[in-house]
Amino acid sequence: MEVAEKVLRKASQILSRHPLCDYCIGRQFAAVGHGLSNQERGRAIKAMLLMEAHLKGVEESREDLTMLARSGYKPASETLERIGVEPPEPQQCGICGGVLSKQRFRRLAEKIIEELSGYEFSNFVVGARVPAEVREREDRLRAEFEIETGEDIKGDITREIGRIIRQRFNAEVEYQTPQIVILVDLFNEDYTLQVNPVFIKGYYRKLQKYIPQTVWYCRHCWGKGCEHCNYTGREYPESVSEIVGEPALEMFEALEYKFHGAGREDVDARVVGTGRPFILELKHPRKRFIDLGELEKRINEHGKGKVEVSGLSYSSRRELRFLKSLSPIASKTYEAIVEFDGEVSEEDLRRMEERFRDIVIEQRTPTRVLRRRADKVRRKKLYYVKAEKLGANKVRFIMKTQGGLYVKELIDGDMGRTQPNISEALGRRPLKIDLTVLEVETPTPQG
Ligand SMILES: [Zn+2]
Ligand SMILES: [Zn+2]
Repeated sequence: MEVAEKVLRKASQILSRHPLCDYCIGRQFAAVGHGLSNQERGRAIKAMLLMEAHLKGVEESREDLTMLARSGYKPASETLERIGVEPPEPQQCGICGGVLSKQRFRRLAEKIIEELSGYEFSNFVVGARVPAEVREREDRLRAEFEIETGEDIKGDITREIGRIIRQRFNAEVEYQTPQIVILVDLFNEDYTLQVNPVFIKGYYRKLQKYIPQTVWYCRHCWGKGCEHCNYTGREYPESVSEIVGEPALEMFEALEYKFHGAGREDVDARVVGTGRPFILELKHPRKRFIDLGELEKRINEHGKGKVEVSGLSYSSRRELRFLKSLSPIASKTYEAIVEFDGEVSEEDLRRMEERFRDIVIEQRTPTRVLRRRADKVRRKKLYYVKAEKLGANKVRFIMKTQGGLYVKELIDGDMGRTQPNISEALGRRPLKIDLTVLEVETPTPQG
């Protein structure tokens, strides 16, 4: 038998036992013939069966015509009327119960479109929820007729809704990283929207001390407000996160933001040079296509003299994952201005420079962060230290380290918990350490 003949015989068998709508009969043969929707395919099958009936003779084909009329195929009802036979009432589809219809698709799509018009987007994806009993009916039918050419009923729903939305918004369907996920429940004529975040990457420089990277709550009241914090609830009034995040939140009309830095510096360290890489995540944004030059300008006005950003560009969740995995392999260059408790000789500095070249530093978790972090030993590379005397007791160090090395402890030794350390090597205790991050070097994502 020819393929078309096989399809028609099987369709006729199915329809004689189960009245199915155009979508549901067409879907059983979805793998046969591309470029058709299941509804078109179903209608074509019914049209072929009608033509067959005409060829055989209308009188002889009453049964087939009745079967087609019962499945809601109007031309079959009209043919029966013409030969004086009362056509049967169309019955509800044996799989979807008549839910798959152009009108219902249109109605639900219009509701979705109304909400979507509040958002900027250029791609989306539609998912569908289908009741278990509908799936069971379809499974039983496929087992009964040994159907191997069918597709999931979800395909019909997502394709039809997707098509209407695409026409309206000039947006594409995107499966990997959709900006908006529309989950439809055609059976209850309901839907939910998931608006995915926008990611912006760039570099920040911190020109002043005592601005933590993220909000730092008061350690006495944990944000409630108390005497200690002048009822602000915070240790520091500002953070890099807010200086960068607030103007972006406003421009993107997002609900909230999250600031992800490539590692972090001490609150009293500055960041200069190129700056530290970061990714800003803007959740549930209504705007998506913002001029980042304008955003950069607004952030830099907002953070004037404190925090500056540069090199803003659009990023992705994939790059965020990469950024997070990165901080242990990134290398950092610091400047430390240190005042010691006594004079430091040029000779000791040169010896120290020699000894602290390309070595591994062993650090137990610093006492100052022990409350927040587990006590363990970290081994991090120190690439070099360069020292320059600024006064009898004052030295400027430039050092390049692997990410995650605690630099203050490298200098003061943290009571012997960091080995080796500069304090022991020089035989002097530091009284004051002034730290600046000069450079954060990160590899760029591959592929
Ligand atoms: Zn149906
Ligand atoms: Zn407080």
